[in-house]
Amino acid sequence: MPYAGVIQRYRAYMDLPDHTRPITLLEGATPLIPLPRLAQDLGGECEIYAKFEGLNPTGSFKDRGMTAAISECAGRGVQAVICASTGNTAASAAAYAARAGQRCIVLIPQGKVAAGKLAGAVAYGAQVIQIDGSFDDALTLVVSLSQKYPIALVNSLNPYRLEGQKTAAFEICDDLGAAPDWLCLPVGNAGNITSYWMGFQQYDSLKHTGRPRILGVQAAGSAPLVLGRPVEKPETVATAIRIGRPARGEQALEAAEQSGGRIIAVSDDDILAMQRRLAAEGVWVEPASAAGLAGLAQQVQAGQFDVRGKRIVGICTGHGLKDPEIIAKTMDKPLLVTPTLEALAEVINR
Ligand SMILES: *Cc1c(COP(=O)(O)O)cnc(C)c1O
Repeated sequence: MPYAGVIQRYRAYMDLPDHTRPITLLEGATPLIPLPRLAQDLGGECEIYAKFEGLNPTGSFKDRGMTAAISECAGRGVQAVICASTGNTAASAAAYAARAGQRCIVLIPQGKVAAGKLAGAVAYGAQVIQIDGSFDDALTLVVSLSQKYPIALVNSLNPYRLEGQKTAAFEICDDLGAAPDWLCLPVGNAGNITSYWMGFQQYDSLKHTGRPRILGVQAAGSAPLVLGRPVEKPETVATAIRIGRPARGEQALEAAEQSGGRIIAVSDDDILAMQRRLAAEGVWVEPASAAGLAGLAQQVQAGQFDVRGKRIVGICTGHGLKDPEIIAKTMDKPLLVTPTLEALAEVINR
């Protein structure tokens, strides 16, 4: 049978109601790309892979959760869905709602959403509303709206989102034959780290695939789980994890602790440096998506992580195309040269 998305592939392991009617864009089945140069740079004698979730239909892992949430809604005749978003959830909800023929409303924090994400949500026909407030404010509002009106909430507070997202853990075990030693990933609202831990535990109980230790990574200007308190005005270039009050913060801390891992923070400079490093190995991700491996590199540099003999998977959550402005801001602009061989030769040989 041709591949038909994560629900078709993993439904037996997903806790979805019987009424669920699969709405899919063939999300999932993303590759584990080996990163031999990064592995060498971090000390060698280890395997490092990027699970490139940016290759999902709308360019981020959100599609795994969204196929589940929207399919459950479709099965009970929901007409309209709503979410708060730093951008990728909006694009994903908009696409899957369009596919299902549902109306989609998204609330985003004004001016803080990357261009490629906003464009996606608009292109898929969602009603996009900016609020003069943070992601956390937007989330509070959509929760209230979904309680007051017949509009279904598709943020990761919706349990089916996690059911969909945990399929990434299944894929990693199926591809590698077992869980890796370590999993490194960015942490924003903390739905994803919670989902991975659910998935790895479930597969281990059923198939004895083992469990990874989890290194959850926040941006230093937006690190409530590291500081142990909410951050009122979160700041970071990694807009997808610019969240001061993670909805699933407790579960994230539990996942890190139970797995024998930890949650740390990295600077924006470290995040951007890892974004460049990954691109130099052919994998262009958006800033937030580089945070997991930036955390690994930071720990290795600080002498707090020995990679030798380890198999490590970094989750690259979203595609670089989502946030083209960051490249314009942080990298050199292309040269403008007169169209003559002499001028070109001069520039190329410089
Ligand atoms: C949503 C998102 C995250 C954060 O995931 P959470 O489940 O909110 O922790 C990280 N990276 C990208 C690209 C995202 O879209």
